[in-house]
Amino acid sequence: MMADETAEKHAPRVIEVSPDLTVRDLAGLLGTTPIEIIKLLMTNGVLANINQAIDHETAQIIGSELGCELRLPEPEPEPAEVLGPQPEWRNFNREESDEKLIIRPPVVAILGHVDHGKTSLLDAIRKANVASGEAGGITQHIGAYQTTHNNKKITFLDTPGHAAFTAMRARGAQTTDIVVLVVAADDGVMPQTREAIAHAKNAQVPIIVALNKIDRSNANPELVKQQLSEAGLTPDDWGGTTMVIPVSAQRKTGLVDLLEALTLVAEHADIRANPSSSGMGTVLEASVDKSRGVMATLLVQNGTLRIGDAVVAGTATGKLKAMFDENGTPVRAATPSTPVSVLGLSEVPHAGDLFHVAASEKEARIIAQVNKDARKAKTGPEAVNMENVFERMSASGIPELNLIIKADVQGSLEPILTNLEKLSTPEVRVRIVHSETGYISESDVLLASASQSIVLGFNVQADQAAQRLAQKDNITIKLHTIIYRLLEEVESAVRGKLGPVYQQVVIGKAEVRAIFKIPNMGFIAGSYMLEGEFRRNARARVSRGKQMMYEGPVSSLRHEKDDVREVRQGFEFGVGLGDFDAFETGDVLECMINEQVP
Ligand code: GDP
Repeated sequence: MMADETAEKHAPRVIEVSPDLTVRDLAGLLGTTPIEIIKLLMTNGVLANINQAIDHETAQIIGSELGCELRLPEPEPEPAEVLGPQPEWRNFNREESDEKLIIRPPVVAILGHVDHGKTSLLDAIRKANVASGEAGGITQHIGAYQTTHNNKKITFLDTPGHAAFTAMRARGAQTTDIVVLVVAADDGVMPQTREAIAHAKNAQVPIIVALNKIDRSNANPELVKQQLSEAGLTPDDWGGTTMVIPVSAQRKTGLVDLLEALTLVAEHADIRANPSSSGMGTVLEASVDKSRGVMATLLVQNGTLRIGDAVVAGTATGKLKAMFDENGTPVRAATPSTPVSVLGLSEVPHAGDLFHVAASEKEARIIAQVNKDARKAKTGPEAVNMENVFERMSASGIPELNLIIKADVQGSLEPILTNLEKLSTPEVRVRIVHSETGYISESDVLLASASQSIVLGFNVQADQAAQRLAQKDNITIKLHTIIYRLLEEVESAVRGKLGPVYQQVVIGKAEVRAIFKIPNMGFIAGSYMLEGEFRRNARARVSRGKQMMYEGPVSSLRHEKDDVREVRQGFEFGVGLGDFDAFETGDVLECMINEQVP
């Protein structure tokens, strides 16, 4: 009892403090006067005034002299960008017992904005390796290559950019363990940088930033770090978890640091596979070589692939006749994370197809036939739309409505995002997978497909490629010109209280050829009907290039001098859209009606 009491008396009082304290703050916390603190500091050889900040170590010494232990708060748990849920690529070794799993090289993809140096960086790393390496410098592009750092291999996917990255993912392939995000130090975070971040985060792949072109006189690393923090990648020297490595692909500096960072992240991610089982993985690319026949690059992700193996790759089959590494050197076996170019497949598989070794050629042919039938039966991926997105997410246990938001300007994007965030309820989360200004691109649709999202556009259009892919992959794109309508739509999806659903369909397209100002009527666009029809009881959309200028009801429709109810293809006509007065020749008009979705 006595002993306990004594212990209590002498146990220092523990106070949690912030790392940046002034003399005045410290006095307040320790229950004494600033003068007392200044005196104590002086006896410890530190001269300070009342408003001066003192470092944590010094504060601790002063605290202990006054019988208090000063502690910094526990660090925040590392955010999901590094320690997210297990990515699905681990499915490749799901069947394996733990003791058979050994560390395999990480597979790295290079993403980033155009011209920031992705290709240069891939080349620089490859050349640095070849110069010191065995293969006499003859390299071939086979879709991936390996390099060695401190006796540890690293596999680089050779097709940079998030389109390739996400196209693979949208096909179900999970090839990448780590993303290197290339950001030019003289240009900073750009739209495609943010896109790449969204793609990598959605795939739950850790990101390392290569701050490239550091050799440039106008490089501004601090500004880029600021932008990275704003984009959700706080550098580790700023208290975050993202490694930011200054490099110059051109001068070949910083490359070793980058490789070191990759090995560190790989160790942390504990990337394993079982080399003793039969080979399986993903087709990276494939083509027909005039003299050699079908050549395919396979990335082995589990097991070992050997010459003579009977392989199924999507709907292609064959006995492997030869295998080569990226230097064109014949190899007999390929272990996990090794890319090999193989000969012997019956037909050209698709990039992103999964492959595996079958027991015999006959079995391989049967499996390929099953794959063929499945592919024929499948009309495309199941649609994700406002009506089913909710139940799909609920089925997975996490009710989430995934959205990709594209808007014309930052000024409209911000209020949309703020208001969308407010729509989350304890039961359903509205998750913004990606948001950016600009038109809806193919890359947005790819991301939607990989993340099961809906794409919402505000005052923007989807370009042709995006529309085609959305149709093929059954991705819903909704375009709006009024913020509250957009919000209303999301809100009703969240609440699951959808009434009859209407879909806007375009029934005709016209081109503005002349503009007239008519007294009392405002502006009339003299237009030519390119296809379909224009109706008076309908809405119209005006777009200029990729930018949507206006959407609203048709207020007048005239053919020659007469008011008409509709105009058909091949005719000239005049159309007024209420107060809209900013027509320009060349603008495209689309006429739209609402149709109830059955
Ligand atoms: P990508 O579009 O991201 O693949 O970019 P590229 O690799 O094609 O590089 C774009 C341009 O930037 C090229 O003209 C390169 O020579 C240049 N570049 C790439 N890396 C560096 C670098 O480290 N320093 C400088 N000064 N220029 C670079």
